[in-house]
Amino acid sequence: MKAAMWRGVEELHIEEVPVPTPGPLDVLVKVAACGVCGTDVHILEGKFPIFTPPRVIGHEYVGSVAAAGKDVTKVKVGDRVAVEQGLPCDRCYFCRDGREHLCTGRYAHPGGFADYTCVLERMCHKLPDGLSFEIAALAEPVACVLRVMDLTQVRSGDIALVQGGGTIGLIMTQVLLHGGITKVILSEPVPHRRALAKAVGAIVVDPKTEDLAAILKKETDGLGPEYVFDCVGHPSLLEEGIELVQKGGTVFVVGVADPAGVASIRPYRLFEKEIRIKTSYMRPYTFARAVRWLPHLNLRPLLGVEYPLAETKAAIHALRQSKGLKILVKP
Ligand SMILES: [Zn+2]
Ligand SMILES: [Zn+2]
Repeated sequence: MKAAMWRGVEELHIEEVPVPTPGPLDVLVKVAACGVCGTDVHILEGKFPIFTPPRVIGHEYVGSVAAAGKDVTKVKVGDRVAVEQGLPCDRCYFCRDGREHLCTGRYAHPGGFADYTCVLERMCHKLPDGLSFEIAALAEPVACVLRVMDLTQVRSGDIALVQGGGTIGLIMTQVLLHGGITKVILSEPVPHRRALAKAVGAIVVDPKTEDLAAILKKETDGLGPEYVFDCVGHPSLLEEGIELVQKGGTVFVVGVADPAGVASIRPYRLFEKEIRIKTSYMRPYTFARAVRWLPHLNLRPLLGVEYPLAETKAAIHALRQSKGLKILVKP
């Protein structure tokens, strides 16, 4: 089979590797589609310290079960599944403390930029009937958004500012609106992303040409939004969020920042406004619920260009230039 092997900064090669043989509890998944994520860009650039090369990357994928080990009971050959990435060790302090996403011995099996992957049965989530592989490839980003929702105390009637209209910002907007938020104001400089955000119910603002602070004041009776969600992961957006959020409100850093990025924060502002800064890491215990959400979200417009496996590197570069929305690689 073929796999896109990451071998260092800007080194991503299509290589011939053996098809894995599933153990008793493993499932061999024939990959149908794998989404390109901002973290894949960071990994290729050598800016994501969690992984070291060589490895097959790609963590947003779906496919069909091609073979199953003898003790597999939940799925069978031919089932269509979304695959959850990252296996906790079950032995470290955090695993034993019920916080497996903070595991210190986490294992990530080879990823979905490949013809096949081999994963534990428990990582496979069966897809609802009639749901396309393309839409289902968004299960992982939806799971990340649900983690954010699990960590917020959004009240019915609150107002939120979402910074960034990429995949996460657009999913975040929809889940927030379903979850009782009355108004989402989404700030995004790229026009076609603003159009999509508007189509999913947000009030859109171009932060480059419009006065975001003034618009927020107008939309919130001068109070500011209860929540700000940075769905980009840029230090300047954290700084902006602290200024724009309502007193007593919450600034949530959702997007993954460049590890070298530095924000400048005046602790007095945090004191004076009594605000909370929250973050989320991974997506523990949300994947099954994310798959359940998929048919209820408007995800088709979020899909961008598709690339064959041989062009995985080009696909990652295309995301970097922010050309499209969710880019899929299809082996
Ligand atoms: Zn991702
Ligand atoms: Zn652990």
